[in-house]
Amino acid sequence: MAERSSASITIVGAGPVGSLLAIMLARRGRRVRLIERRGDPRTAAPERGRSINLALAARGLRALEHARLLGAIAAEMVVMPGRMLHDENGATSFLPYGQNEREVIYAISRERLNRLLVEAAAKQASIELRFALRCIDVDVDACAIVVKDERSGRESREPFELLFGADGAGSAVRAALFARGLTQTREAPLAHDYKELLMPATPRAAFEPHALHIWPRGDFMLIALPNADQSFTATLFLPRHGAVSFDALHSDGGARMFFAQHFADAAAAMPQLEQEFRQHPQGRLATLYCERWHAGGRVLLLGDAAHAIVPFHGQGLNCGFEDCILLDELLAAHTDAASAFTAFEQRRRPDTDAIAAMAIENYYEMRAAVRAPDFLRRKALAAQLEQRFPQRFIQRYSMVMFHPEISYSQAQSRGLLQERVLDALTAQLPAHALPHSAAELPAQAQQLLDEAGL
Ligand code: FAD
Repeated sequence: MAERSSASITIVGAGPVGSLLAIMLARRGRRVRLIERRGDPRTAAPERGRSINLALAARGLRALEHARLLGAIAAEMVVMPGRMLHDENGATSFLPYGQNEREVIYAISRERLNRLLVEAAAKQASIELRFALRCIDVDVDACAIVVKDERSGRESREPFELLFGADGAGSAVRAALFARGLTQTREAPLAHDYKELLMPATPRAAFEPHALHIWPRGDFMLIALPNADQSFTATLFLPRHGAVSFDALHSDGGARMFFAQHFADAAAAMPQLEQEFRQHPQGRLATLYCERWHAGGRVLLLGDAAHAIVPFHGQGLNCGFEDCILLDELLAAHTDAASAFTAFEQRRRPDTDAIAAMAIENYYEMRAAVRAPDFLRRKALAAQLEQRFPQRFIQRYSMVMFHPEISYSQAQSRGLLQERVLDALTAQLPAHALPHSAAELPAQAQQLLDEAGL
């Protein structure tokens, strides 16, 4: 076998994480073979039923920059400087995400992003792209993968030197490790499912195109992200079972009535609502906890294959892209792959555990907490603290979305300390009162930050 440091690399999954990693590694002079079960996105129609667009934030952007791809992708991104909240009466209010015009997130079509990454990979002479080839097993001891040609149905064994499983939440590479007792996995399913629906482009956009729209309704919510063509992709998050649930919406006309009752302004922008509701898949959501990401110094999982999370912080892909930067740097720094893999898992796991937990917490914030006056008061106070003490207090959402130099685990632990400062400050202020400006913050603010070690 070749020296590990120069070993050729096989990546299963030419999704966003697999494609980006391939490009980074090829730039370092590595030979890469990318195996993808679907057809070539440069020629094939996008697969139906997959989530249509997603939000990119600073961590994802930094990874694209690291691979020198941001310039090519920037033209496809729609800026979202804040969330637009829609209440039951159709009134809207805009809450900026950050403190300045740089602290924004971007909507991008998943299909366009994936296609651009595959196009960039195809330009690298040392990347071999193989589509319509499904990995069905991995023989770790023999360093071979079993693949099935999706067109002919023929199965074959192919040797590998190093194998990366970037094949998503339902990873076949992970399943092969599990089947050989090389890892354990646990899935924590959410009791809420999701369904995507389209708000088609109209001559005048149905809603403000530069915002992430949220219809928070307590135990459920609708969100909509803008697309570059003035359409929006809406996603309904709703309990699977119960009085208000997907189960309860199966009757004819049920979805239209439900939307008219809870999201009347959104329903008006969805002419195909009934048809799409019937036809579009009802997706499940879960957090994946995988006990060990690598095996035998030859196989490593990353991206959703290692740590799929629920989508409420808009960080799953951003986190997978961040994996690529770290892995690229570790493979360059370590002479053998086994120690790079060990270092990768040690460094990354506290962060992926942290974002998994914060993503679940954010669901409650998005669907329920944002409606509470106390939440808005705390948010405003937090923004004032951030303005007055920018080095010492950064809102947790901002640390996750806009500060890639702060790890997810640091954001989580600092966030807890900051919550205590906010608790103490709100307790000191008269009910519903708020300083008019950062300059008027109570004198104790600084002392509270000192005491919290911030
Ligand atoms: P995937 O995107 O799943 O790609 C895996 C690839 O591997 C696919 O191309 C697949 O065809 C291929 N593959 C699978 N099995 C095999 C096999 N056996 N053999 C060969 N190839 C195989 N993240 C964000 O950062 N921001 C968001 O706003 C956001 N919104 C989301 C909304 C929803 C509703 C959902 C469900 C997720 C969202 N995410 C978001 C998460 C994001 O989609 C994932 O984290 C991201 O797609 C993971 O990328 P990946 O490349 O690891 O896996």
